[in-house]
Amino acid sequence: METMDWSNLGFGYNKTDYNVRCYYRNGKWGEIEVSSEETIPMHMAATCLHYGQEAFEGLKAYRCPDGKVRVFRSDENAARLQSTCRGILMPELPTERFNEMVDKVVRLNERFIPPYETGATLYIRPLFIGISAQVGVHPATEYLFMIFVTPVGPYFKGGFSCNDYVIIREFDRSAPLGTGIYKVGGNYAASLRANKMAHDLGYACEFYLDAKEKKYMDECGAANFFGIKNNTYVTPKSTSILPSITNKSLMQLAEDLGLKVERRQIPEDELETFEEAGACGTAAVISPIGKIDDLELKKSFQISKNGKPGPISEKLYNKLRGIQYGTEPDVHGWTRVVIDN
Ligand SMILES: *Cc1c(COP(=O)(O)O)cnc(C)c1O
Repeated sequence: METMDWSNLGFGYNKTDYNVRCYYRNGKWGEIEVSSEETIPMHMAATCLHYGQEAFEGLKAYRCPDGKVRVFRSDENAARLQSTCRGILMPELPTERFNEMVDKVVRLNERFIPPYETGATLYIRPLFIGISAQVGVHPATEYLFMIFVTPVGPYFKGGFSCNDYVIIREFDRSAPLGTGIYKVGGNYAASLRANKMAHDLGYACEFYLDAKEKKYMDECGAANFFGIKNNTYVTPKSTSILPSITNKSLMQLAEDLGLKVERRQIPEDELETFEEAGACGTAAVISPIGKIDDLELKKSFQISKNGKPGPISEKLYNKLRGIQYGTEPDVHGWTRVVIDN
């Protein structure tokens, strides 16, 4: 195994040995190619560069205490990528091919999978782009799907703890009938200014309201939102948020724990009634919310009353992490062993 300063890794790019690539040409997928190049040769008129034909995914491989390496719900990432492809007119990559490439790139870079104790993981980044030349606005005829991996540090360096968020009313990340439900780079381009504003003001991340009425909670920059009250897990129903696999899993685990689960619109003012709330996504699983400020309306919704994560968030967090690391029974069949030492 590589000797790296695993526990001081951030969420940045660290070079690994290999990436895997697969081209789509003449209406069909080619063979899987292994590459040690970090760059991509492409035409300057490629559609990904001009018209945003770009989709990505994000998942992780976990080195577990039993010595095995597991990935979490990669079928769901494959399905979401297919949905994104339908949304921006790219060819769909079959789930089996997606999983085969995930397994291959993880195995090829085994020495970069951080040890269990460090809390660090191997982040897996699938990327899908239109690469053939097009000057008029049309989908490409040729595509590249590739996956690279990079070790990333633990999200919570000082232990599971609360973060503060700010509602940004000045910008929207996506429209009700736009591309918010797809994992495309364009949504992130639309979020960069709001994200910078939030960080400059000292918040962990920006929060978006629904773009049409500016009344309902949508999601954070790169994570879904949930609130907990009266033994109920509540999460927004919206046509402009990205369907998080973490959120989907937490909804199931909440149900397993005997909570009621509600997917519905959440008016901003309802924030004051939540006993707990969190942002959820692959990076942190759950990032518990301390408070959410709405600077324009001069409101502050204090969610955590003692500055600590709530008991239900903590239970859900431990349960999901336990499944990912193979220390909790995987009753829903969410993990796949990629390396079986
Ligand atoms: C990727 C992403 C999430 C989190 O999804 P997970 O599958 O849970 O990692 C949430 N919101 C946005 C905008 C995203 O791009």
